[in-house]
Formats: sequence, structure tokens, C-alpha cells
Amino acid sequence: MFSTRMEQRNGVTDPASELAETNLERLKNALSESDAVVIGAGAGLSASAGFVYDGKRFEKHFSDFIEKYGFRDMYSGGFYPFDSLEEHWAYWSRYIWINRYADAPKPVYDELLALVKGRDYFVLTTNVDHCFQKASFEKDRMFYTQGDYGLFQCSEPCCQKTWDNEEIVRAMLDRQEDMRIPSELVPRCPNCGKPAAMNLRSDDTFVQDAGWYEAAERYALFIKRHQGMRTLYLELGVGYNTPIFYVLRTSRNSKINLIKQQIQIHSDIISNNYEEKRCA
Ligand SMILES: [Zn+2]
Repeated sequence: MFSTRMEQRNGVTDPASELAETNLERLKNALSESDAVVIGAGAGLSASAGFVYDGKRFEKHFSDFIEKYGFRDMYSGGFYPFDSLEEHWAYWSRYIWINRYADAPKPVYDELLALVKGRDYFVLTTNVDHCFQKASFEKDRMFYTQGDYGLFQCSEPCCQKTWDNEEIVRAMLDRQEDMRIPSELVPRCPNCGKPAAMNLRSDDTFVQDAGWYEAAERYALFIKRHQGMRTLYLELGVGYNTPIFYVLRTSRNSKINLIKQQIQIHSDIISNNYEEKRCA
């Protein structure tokens, strides 16, 4: 773990709380010296808020599916080719409810909002669990690029539209029996009648609706408006394989200083400065 490496530096052991406090101060200083902040958030941020996809949380909600299929975690079970749509949606309605409509177990997103509230911020995220919205980040300051568990789309798709699923997902949850929902609850496209699908980017059927393009435009304008100003790019819960700010990593002829932040359990913010060379 990164924190362990830092604690063992020069043979000196720092108390974890002192380290977190120091890093939080550094982040606050960086924020106060910035004209704007762009938060790039990945799955790790929601994991730190308690949205974990395996272990006890998985067993609590999916014990019957685990027993029948031997699933090891929620995510991989979501790819299983169930025999019927009734069983598929019995699984997915639980998945959607606990990861999209239920509140996060820990207030990580609220604490993050407290840090940036009143500042000129924008959120760019691959997360589809609505945590930023639920924590009351401003809607016009967010672009969730990969979809939303709370939206359905046509599986074809016959149109570039999405629709809210809260009401029907609640009904699927309430009325499922023996790992199946009633057939009349199987969601269908209101336009063509074909089965509905999750609005998640997994292949080229992903629907980018009008809201998606409006958010993309707002993000582009935000970046344009802050050109030449001091913008803090804050990446949170993002692995090196899927960086949010990949544009920064692929632009030419410049160096950029970023602060790499990682929020870990108990909302400790672990950070290290690193100089990132842009490469072609
Ligand atoms: Zn359709």
C-alpha cells in the first residue's frame, strides 16, 4: 500500500492520522492557490464510500445467486447470460437499487463537496452510480461519461434516448420471487418494444442521449474558459490503466504538475506530488 511506503520512508513511522492531516492540508493549499479544479473520479472513490462489489455486501443481497451460480462478485455476475429476462432483471434490479438508489455507507462524496463548494469546479467521472448527484454536486458541473445505472435505453438501439428506471426497478425489487421478476415487468423500449438495456458503455450500442452531449459541451466550455489559468486536476480513485485525464498524458511538448490523490478507507486522503511529462 502506498501509505505503508510513506510511513516507512527513512525508517520513520508517521501516525496515519498525522499523514492524512498533512495531505489534507496540502490539498487545501493547492485548492486555495487554484482558479479552478477539475475532479476526475473513478471506481475507487465509490469503493472508499463503501460501494464494494464483493464480500459481505455481495453475500447479503445475492446469496441465492451465489448458491446457484457460484458468482464471486456482483460485477462478474452482471455478465452472466441468464436463461430468461425475468431472471436477468431479478439480478440487475437488486444491483441497480443498492448501487444507484441506496445511499453510500460513508460520507466520502459529502466531504469532497465540502472541499470544493464555492469554488469553480467541474467533475468528470466514469462512475455510473450517481454518488456525485446524491451528494448535491451541481448538475451543470458534472459529466458522467459512461452512463448511469438509473437509466435504461433500447437494446437495439432504435433511438438515441434514455429513460429513468427508478419506478420500474423498485417494482422489480418488490415483486420478484425465486430469482425471477413477473414477465409484465420486463422493461421494453417505449419506441420499438424491444427489450430495454442498461445505459452503460460496454460496447457500440451505448446511447449518448441529449443530456450526454450537453454535459460534454459544458465540460469543453469549462476547460476553454480556464485556459491559461491555474487549474487543479484532481484524480480520485482512478487506476493507472484508465486515467481520467488521459488527454493530459497524450498532449505534446509540455510538462505538467499534477497532484495524485487517492482517497482510502476512512476518507484518508493520501497524496503524492508527481511531475508528469506529456508525451506524444
Ligand atoms: Zn427501441
